[in-house]
Amino acid sequence: MALHQGTLQIFENNVGVSDAVLLDPVTEDAFLDNLAARFNKQQIYTYIGNVVISVNPYEKLPLYTHAVIEEYRSRNIYELPPHIYAITDDAYRSMRDKNLDQCIIISGESGSGKTEASKVIMQYVAEVSGKGRDIDRVKEQLLQSNPVLEAFGNAKTTRNDNSSRFGKYMDIEFDFKGDPVGGVITNSQNQGERNFHIFYQMLQGLDPTALSELKLVPGVESYSFLNKSGCVDVDARDDVGDFQVVQNGMEIIGFSEEERNQVLQLLASILKLGNVQFEDRPNEDGTDGSDVVNIKEVEEVSQLLGCSLDILSSALNTRTVAVRGDMVKTDLNVADAMYARTALCKAIYSRMFSWLITRINDSIKVKENLANRTKVMGVLDIYGFEVLETNSFEQFIINYCNEKLQQIFIELTLKEEQEEYVKEGIEWIHVDYFNNSVICDLIEKNNQGILALLDEECLRPGNTSDSTFLEKMDTRCASHPHYESRKCKKNQSDKTLPHEAFRLRHYAGNVLYQVSGFLDKNNDLLFRDLSQAMYQCSHPLLKHLFPEGRPSEQSLKRPATTGSQFKVSVTELMKNLGSKNPNYIRCIKPNDFKKERDFDLEIVKHQVRYLGLMENVRVRRAGYAFRQVYPQFLFRYKMMAEETWPHWEGEPREGVKKILEAQGVSQEEYAFGKTKIFIRNPRLLFDMEERRRQ
Ligand code: ATP
Ligand code: MG
Repeated sequence: MALHQGTLQIFENNVGVSDAVLLDPVTEDAFLDNLAARFNKQQIYTYIGNVVISVNPYEKLPLYTHAVIEEYRSRNIYELPPHIYAITDDAYRSMRDKNLDQCIIISGESGSGKTEASKVIMQYVAEVSGKGRDIDRVKEQLLQSNPVLEAFGNAKTTRNDNSSRFGKYMDIEFDFKGDPVGGVITNSQNQGERNFHIFYQMLQGLDPTALSELKLVPGVESYSFLNKSGCVDVDARDDVGDFQVVQNGMEIIGFSEEERNQVLQLLASILKLGNVQFEDRPNEDGTDGSDVVNIKEVEEVSQLLGCSLDILSSALNTRTVAVRGDMVKTDLNVADAMYARTALCKAIYSRMFSWLITRINDSIKVKENLANRTKVMGVLDIYGFEVLETNSFEQFIINYCNEKLQQIFIELTLKEEQEEYVKEGIEWIHVDYFNNSVICDLIEKNNQGILALLDEECLRPGNTSDSTFLEKMDTRCASHPHYESRKCKKNQSDKTLPHEAFRLRHYAGNVLYQVSGFLDKNNDLLFRDLSQAMYQCSHPLLKHLFPEGRPSEQSLKRPATTGSQFKVSVTELMKNLGSKNPNYIRCIKPNDFKKERDFDLEIVKHQVRYLGLMENVRVRRAGYAFRQVYPQFLFRYKMMAEETWPHWEGEPREGVKKILEAQGVSQEEYAFGKTKIFIRNPRLLFDMEERRRQ
């Protein structure tokens, strides 16, 4: 693909255009060309207006040094090549000087560089804000929360050696001088047990005595939760060193030794529970029960957790159910026992993770005397739109969240545009865009949306299943333009639609969801016997994590479903983001091999679509595509009018007017704001840039 000529050279040595708004024509091909050309010259950042697109270089580039930070410090966003530092600086200064709360929303698919970007932001803020004992302590605690949360929340996957398995939102709070005084972290959804780094770190990093106290044996191979991934040895991570970093980080954040020990005990128990095997035990009445094969593991777990072996083992292979008001104990067959065991491990882990966050928040909380007087900068590092070979409930939830983020993106971008126009005294031009709220409604509308239908099926007594859920959607959503299913009249001839699936037409593209597993995953029920067993443990942390196991709470309503919990947290998050001035970083993964200098056009194209970047460019270009403060514009183009060359003595605004008049373009093409010139069509700038060079 040929690169486009006539690019606007904002900087010397700049490849292509540093702002995609200036592309001409605005086609997907031109957009991709531009990204590729820049990427090949290690220019990994490109703007769409004030949105930063970041393409993961998979190699260490000299972009994050102290010297570079100094360059970007307090400079106008368009003065230097695109960089995360530039928007961070812009956000930081608007927060500090104009008292506007900010948020930086980072999105992109797994491995695209979101978490790294969030660290780049934190590093910048830490460097440019003030120094001092209290401030440094806060900064240290905020920074230390990264390795700790990564150890517990990240895992090696096929797509990323350090994949975040949770969405993270962190508010950094500042005082009136712009110095950090605290923060709050919120997490969304943590998909249960996985091969989180902390397990490996612990096994490698603890000495033999400590291991035996935890009733563990050395070696990852010994634990079935860890030896399944097949990538134990090729792990490039320094587990021993990382374990030290995590322990140290926890100490700095303020975890007592006791607390750290309790966490290790829970981790050890999870690993050991993962090794528990069950065998079939036919009952006399013809039903199937199960026995634990390796009771020693269970015994050791009961010692670690401080509960009786009887209670724990019976909770693992029986279940008490209410039958017409009576509590009846039934045996679990092998499959159900395995299922319950794994559910227990997931529950312990994810509750412990939430507790870690609560605990970190306690430490980094803003001191009372400053509360309510802080300004905030939020950083959101969250999973991007996800489309896998087979998509299930997890993808449905992730994509719902991204649908909401897109909605807020559109609202906020337009709102921001509008506000800038008002501030600059410019008449508002209507912008046409695709409003995705119709899809958000399809998913989340009270009593009608897919989430509500799913809850209905989960809570309805009787024989409900994934299929009855699909049937319900097929009747209730049949006429919705964004819902498709084989059973719906309008889709009957579509042979690409399998029977046990439905397709949603998301803003970023169509996704086929397999309905299998939706009910189970939404219910996410832990058998009551297990929560009760956990509550009866003397282990203080564990007890705390299973409050519903308290006998007096037995009759409590069932816990909220996964879907409805998620909806609540998404709604909260959107409310929070909506109250702040947004800044965006859109991350892109250049290839599937974690390889440097390899730009795979097809793979990038896919992401450009799912991130809605072309829509992004269009929204931005719909009004005035380009704007610049008067003095800068004057300085750059002063040679283009007789009156302004070589010097213009009058008001910069008047000088700019002279320059534009000299171009002979229609006055509708631009507008004069209070501090900035607004230009509708970037074509004008290309032409001026061409002429300037002649
Ligand atoms: P996930 O959604 O799985 O958590 P992510 O988008 O958070 O993925 P990161 O963990 O930030 O992805 O990045 C993946 C890897 O890519 C990093 O471990 C690092 O090796 C590399 N990487 C990302 N950004 C950069 C960068 N700016 N410079 C150099 N390498 C980078
Ligand atoms: Mg990540």
